[in-house]
Amino acid sequence: MSQKKLDKISKKQFREIVEYAVHYHFCYCYLCGEPILPGQHYNLDHVIPRSKGGPTEPSNLRPTHCNCNQAKADMMLHDFRRVQQYVLEEKSRSK
Ligand SMILES: [Zn+2]
Repeated sequence: MSQKKLDKISKKQFREIVEYAVHYHFCYCYLCGEPILPGQHYNLDHVIPRSKGGPTEPSNLRPTHCNCNQAKADMMLHDFRRVQQYVLEEKSRSK
């Protein structure tokens, strides 16, 4: 499928992708590793950001908490991990 076609998926198709991704990944936020509780709001993150050519399809989508997804924004995963690591180190230093 071309990138153009993927950008035009219907809302129904997108819903199916969301449900597939959430069930397939057992409702764990892939950014922080904490469970996404039933009824809790979640986002679907593009592992490879759309701005960097990542497709909107199950293999590239993972459920995340809304705030985790916002923190990652359009970073690549390895960049986000580096930021995460830095924040953790800063936190333990200020204790
Ligand atoms: Zn999270």
